[in-house]
Amino acid sequence: MKYQPVIGLEVHVQLLTDTKIFCGCSTTFGSEPNSQTCPVCLGLPGALPVLNKKVVEFAIRAGLSTNCSITPRSIFARKNYFYPDLPKGYQISQFEDPICQLGWLDITVEGQETKRIGITRIHMEEDAGKLVHGDSDMNDGSGVDLNRACTPLLEVVSEPDLRTSDEAVSYLKQLHQIVTWLGICDGNMEEGSFRCDANVSVMPVGSSTFGTRAEIKNINSFKFVKQAIEYEIERQIDLIEDGGTVVQETRLFDPNSCTTRSMRSKEEAHDYRYFPDPDLVPLVISDQWIERARRELPELPEQRQHRFMTDLGLPAYDAEVLTASRALADYFEACVAAHDNAKAVGNWIMGEITRSLNDSGTSIEACPVTPARLAELLKLIDNGTISGKIAKTVFDEMWKSGKTPQTIVEEQGLVQVSDIGAIESIIDEIMAANAGQVEEYRGGKEKVFGFFVGQVMKASKGKANPSVVNELLLTKLQG
Ligand code: ADP
Ligand code: MG
Ligand code: ZN
Repeated sequence: MKYQPVIGLEVHVQLLTDTKIFCGCSTTFGSEPNSQTCPVCLGLPGALPVLNKKVVEFAIRAGLSTNCSITPRSIFARKNYFYPDLPKGYQISQFEDPICQLGWLDITVEGQETKRIGITRIHMEEDAGKLVHGDSDMNDGSGVDLNRACTPLLEVVSEPDLRTSDEAVSYLKQLHQIVTWLGICDGNMEEGSFRCDANVSVMPVGSSTFGTRAEIKNINSFKFVKQAIEYEIERQIDLIEDGGTVVQETRLFDPNSCTTRSMRSKEEAHDYRYFPDPDLVPLVISDQWIERARRELPELPEQRQHRFMTDLGLPAYDAEVLTASRALADYFEACVAAHDNAKAVGNWIMGEITRSLNDSGTSIEACPVTPARLAELLKLIDNGTISGKIAKTVFDEMWKSGKTPQTIVEEQGLVQVSDIGAIESIIDEIMAANAGQVEEYRGGKEKVFGFFVGQVMKASKGKANPSVVNELLLTKLQG
């Protein structure tokens, strides 16, 4: 029998606010344990939560950018469970009436048509604290650090519309790109700022009833998401083929063995006893607020990609690569503003710039070659001062020394030789020294042409203008 996997993702997005969702404590990462706490986030009796407006603003931005409708009157609820990192005994979240509902993202997987993936809901909630085990101060004991308690999160829940691990990764990457582009999340998956629970089930092909799902918790890289889903699909199919049944449960992914293992079954699952939090009034969002947020949205990756294609004439591939992040797209546009040749600018960014950034582990924000300098370099190529090949040498020197391309060209005498007389005399010398190859060429062995080009370029230390060299060589060799 053939099986059809079904996948739905729940993504936790940690918001980049300065302060927590229900108190004024700082959200800075990595501070002394419990140094960023107050009666509210410590869950002391009688302390009252006050909603951070910035969290609402960020949630609206996320919702509008994922085609959701914004709920005019949304409710905070208590999700009750006991854990030592949750001093109140409940997490404030949203259950019925979350702030954003019924959106979608259009994803593309290589070789397939665009597919629309539904977003069921996006809700706001507070994070829990953290247990720290076996720290030096605690010897073998465990401690509770509540700095993270009450940190704002968005939970983005997809419809079970995904069918393959590649579709899941594509959806996740697009969501990651949007929240980082909006500046509402730093996107750091290793630190858990963007993490995913994957719900996976399988059913016989052609069936219209979904199978029972397992939920794999807290996966923190795109690669792990792919591996976890693929393992889980195989596991469930093997189980069914062997006559077993899939049980609804929560599982953990182990990156070392690339397998998932059971954490708790449905019977052990919590009944959270959600109810509206009486400490927080309903959140009412006016149409004006939504419209203002809509107006203030930045141009999103998809729109920008489209504009790069239609206004700047870039191929789809270039437009996609150059909008990988907002900073990269900004860099590209600053270069184009200074040098009106989008295709050439794009090639340099996708080539030399990207390579140098990767080699040195630098982000585009810290690129030592500014857009203005890159534009100067490209102008030197366009006006024939240097060849494209020499430009790469100049670029490496700009990267290292921070000097202007003009200075480097002058200091190192790299100006391109286009003077016909000078190139002709080099060609004459080389032809005289390689009479054998000249005969071969004239006898019909045209491949030898490349040899001559190489020799002339070498003799000119790469400075001869390649198109002049080609033209003159052709005339001379043909005698
Ligand atoms: P819960 O709140 O218990 O996690 P939800 O109904 O909210 O349950 O579903 C959570 C996620 O599971 C959603 O992303 C949804 O798309 C996905 N999902 C639901 N049913 C299935 C299924 N049979 N197979 C795969 N994913 C599913
Ligand atoms: Mg869930
Ligand atoms: Zn606090």
